Amino acid sequence: MNKHDSERIIGMLEALGCSEVATPEQADIVIFMTCCVRESADTRLFGHVMSLKDQPVRPGSPLDERIIAIGGCIGQRDGEGLMEQMPHVKVVFGTNTIHALPSLLQSALEGDPAADIQEQSTVFSTELPTHREQDWAAWLPITVGCDNFCTYCIVPYVRGRERSRALEDVRTDAERLVAQGVKEITLLGQNVNSYGRDLYGKPAFAQMLDAIDNTGIERLRFATSHPKDLSPQVIERFGSLRSLMPALHLPVQSGSDRILRAMNRRYTQESYVSLIEALRTSCPDIALSTDVIVGFPGETEEDFQQTLKLIDAIGYHQVFTFIYSKRAGTPAATYPDEVPRPVAQDRFERLLQVVEKRALQANERDVGRVVDVLFEGPSKKDGSVMSGKSPKGQTVHVPMAHGLDATSAGSIHPVRISEARTWYLTGQVLEA
Ligand code: SAH
Ligand code: SF4
Repeated sequence: MNKHDSERIIGMLEALGCSEVATPEQADIVIFMTCCVRESADTRLFGHVMSLKDQPVRPGSPLDERIIAIGGCIGQRDGEGLMEQMPHVKVVFGTNTIHALPSLLQSALEGDPAADIQEQSTVFSTELPTHREQDWAAWLPITVGCDNFCTYCIVPYVRGRERSRALEDVRTDAERLVAQGVKEITLLGQNVNSYGRDLYGKPAFAQMLDAIDNTGIERLRFATSHPKDLSPQVIERFGSLRSLMPALHLPVQSGSDRILRAMNRRYTQESYVSLIEALRTSCPDIALSTDVIVGFPGETEEDFQQTLKLIDAIGYHQVFTFIYSKRAGTPAATYPDEVPRPVAQDRFERLLQVVEKRALQANERDVGRVVDVLFEGPSKKDGSVMSGKSPKGQTVHVPMAHGLDATSAGSIHPVRISEARTWYLTGQVLEA
């Protein structure tokens, strides 16, 4: 969501006549887009902002002083407090006030530092200009905010209550993107499966998938799904919708029912496993990924063993693993029995071993197969190799040959997979 918000900000600044530069030091305006889901990002922001404090603005700048702005979750949470803490920060905006950035910058240019973090806005950021990182791939928000209040999570407090966009509006956006040549759309929301509950007629998420598939888009993905709201209709679409890619991110967080209850996740290990079985019945080769938190307050070795067993049994393509991070203002921040850091770290490392073993096994099943790869550009490590994504979302590296070259970015070609690694595949293009 932050990446998408950043694309909007770049689009708005370009509309104002700004252009992007390579480093913060070269910039007249520096905007920090922030996240406070875990403490580490919080701490990093402070260091980054302070390091700019005594750096003069570039020679030839029309400004006497660089304008530093902070937006996103930390902006929303701390508001004007950030300017008190760091007086060289001149603009603060929140998760719902991206549209206010031009007027806030104007005010700062006139010497008047400004903050706007009002909680609800009538402007969906999707109505703002955008500058997409890649011409062929687009994020498309369908909801903002979250109503779930998982006890560890700050998101509902900094992104506000869940609101859905009208299905017609999203469809129109998708049609426009397809007409522009976009190949892949990723529908975005904190919990896309609860889409539409606040709208007249309560359109379901499965209807949204049908509508976007109908636009002729080549590849459709979505994130994120809460297991408690994943409907049989959406599961069925994985087996029937042409454009819906065989990949699903379904955060489990823990394998212990006791911890899941304490997290307020509202499903059990058993009901989660039933969803996985239904998904694999609908789409046998679906690639699954998940999020896991270790070291939640009160987590015992026995609870952790259940997580470990579940992750091993399911066999994910990818698992995003996090050590629990206490977030002030969330219910879990007051829970007793904090897990000591070295214990959490040890569990984290043991989990990673299982994750990596299973990820490699999952990728090995594709060796010898031909998969359609959407190429993104030359590999960052080796310019003679093109990188792209398979339908399952795996990174695929392919030597440039048989007509495949740097201009192939944004196009889809069949690739025979020759080798599997934990986090990527390699192969040869059949024709380009
Ligand atoms: N709405 C999405 C994303 C939430 S944030 C969802 O529900 O899946 C992404 C991930 O960060 C979460 O799934 C969770 O695993 C992790 N996370 C959130 N708060 C955390 C915390 N306080 N400590 C550690 N990990 C956290
Ligand atoms: Fe946070 Fe839970 Fe909402 Fe995801 S569903 S954003 S983890 S409160």
